[in-house]
Amino acid sequence: MLALSRILRVSRSGWLRRRPIRSFVSEAGRLRVLVDMDGVLADFEGGFLRNYRARYPHDPFIALEDRRGFWVSEQYRQLRPELCEKAISIWEAKNFFIDLDPLPGAVEAVKQMADLDNTDVFICTSPIKKYRYCPYEKYAWVEKHFGHEFLEHIVLTRDKTVVSADLLIDDRQDITGAEPNPSWEHVLFTACHNKHLQLQPPWRRLSSWSDDWKSILDSKRPQWCHAAFQPL
Ligand SMILES: [Mg+2]
Repeated sequence: MLALSRILRVSRSGWLRRRPIRSFVSEAGRLRVLVDMDGVLADFEGGFLRNYRARYPHDPFIALEDRRGFWVSEQYRQLRPELCEKAISIWEAKNFFIDLDPLPGAVEAVKQMADLDNTDVFICTSPIKKYRYCPYEKYAWVEKHFGHEFLEHIVLTRDKTVVSADLLIDDRQDITGAEPNPSWEHVLFTACHNKHLQLQPPWRRLSSWSDDWKSILDSKRPQWCHAAFQPL
């Protein structure tokens, strides 16, 4: 009952209202950042194209600069219906996820982010439903590039809306799920499939890991935090 009363308020008219969501940084003093894996840390698109062309050298392919839309398999279906299954076979294969290259600057940036004061970073990633290799390889990839300690910072979920945080950095534009009002602000990480999209304010982008990700984090910190970290 106590827990319920913390979440719900009874208005004078008797209607239950949800308590306004507050940012985590203001309550716990720490900023929580979720960083997506495929297309943000790991080069999914580049790895896919390399493997696809090696496995199906006589089939047509879509160059990275011509990619449109989040779903690779859908664009291949439009190119030729039978290519959809061939595309899917690439990321369902053993060693696909573990062999993905890190995107430029990604590992260094996220390690740096995790070392910042008052900042908690989690790699938040959705495994494919054909789970024989993917979940294991995602853990192995993080261990390979970030070290064993970073395994504490993995969130595997098919629904990112139910994970609470201040920021989600993700290359997928439409992230929906059971929670209609996720607590995080979604910052779109630029990828070949989304770079042409015009975002309406207040949407923000992170164009690459050489972009100013620290400013985006700082914009979510409370003012007292800015003051505390100003050099004297
Ligand atoms: Mg992604």
